[in-house]
Amino acid sequence: MDTAIEMERAGINLKPSGRMPDDSVLQAPVEAGKTVGNITVDDPIFSCRDVDVYYGEKHAIKKVGIDIGKNSVLAMIGPSGCGKSTFLRCLNRMNDTIPNARVVGSIKLDGNDIHDKKQDVVQLRARVGMVFQKPNPFPKSIYENVAYGPRIHGLAGDRVELDEIVHSSLQRAGLWEEVKDRLQHPGTSLSGGQQQRLCIARTIAVNPEVILMDEPCSALDPIATARIEDLMEELRQSYAIVIVTHSMQQAARVSQRTAYFHLGDLIEVGETDRIFTNPRHRLTEDYITGRFG
Ligand code: ADP
Repeated sequence: MDTAIEMERAGINLKPSGRMPDDSVLQAPVEAGKTVGNITVDDPIFSCRDVDVYYGEKHAIKKVGIDIGKNSVLAMIGPSGCGKSTFLRCLNRMNDTIPNARVVGSIKLDGNDIHDKKQDVVQLRARVGMVFQKPNPFPKSIYENVAYGPRIHGLAGDRVELDEIVHSSLQRAGLWEEVKDRLQHPGTSLSGGQQQRLCIARTIAVNPEVILMDEPCSALDPIATARIEDLMEELRQSYAIVIVTHSMQQAARVSQRTAYFHLGDLIEVGETDRIFTNPRHRLTEDYITGRFG
């Protein structure tokens, strides 16, 4: 008996993932910091170890350790409230802006601790850009939305260079053709999907190494979502991307590696194909098969 159909006919209960029940799936929640799967990658852009985050008394992230690879997309999935956004915000110190948040542990960007006293937070956020759930263009023209960052970071010597940065950023964000004749129109005059691509252009304009995306498509329709997903595949040729998504289909489509969070623990990390076909922890399996969350 070697096919799933034969086994089902014989009354052998297949798991929802189509796999045979076996003892190799770990049943118990992992101890904090004991993630299942390989948390390391070769030549990481980020290396995070023993990261804890507290909001006052609340322990929102527990001893999380994970590397983030260059030129690839890491998807962070898990039920609402499990700490995905909190962990994402650690990577460019956005939690610094939340009064009662406290981040402990080691987060190294290209080998240097981002909490080091010498780390300039404005510079860090240029190297590690962020795209939010709701597109949030500045109340300025399309041109100014993209030009603003390069200007404050002194990346353009003159207007010609600035024009070139604006052009290439809009082009890489897949928006140039749609806006080239109305660069002086307000950013807010664009559709939701265009606004999100404008925010991506704004992020790219300051030459980041990493792009963090916190549910970037959840306010978009399926066509606009597909455009952003296609764009992510292009962008990863140049950047590391970390995306928080509630959509497992999206994680499966856009990422090469997936991290599953549960109640502040990083339960499992692995190649996306492996996580979705052969999860090694019961909690991951329950989530991806829709029995939980
Ligand atoms: P997720 O992104 O997985 O939905 P979050 O990172 O938003 O989860 O939240 C993780 C936990 O931290 C939740 O219990 C949430 O209520 C709590 N939390 C998030 N932000 C704050 C905050 N600013 N103050 C207090 N608690 C917070």
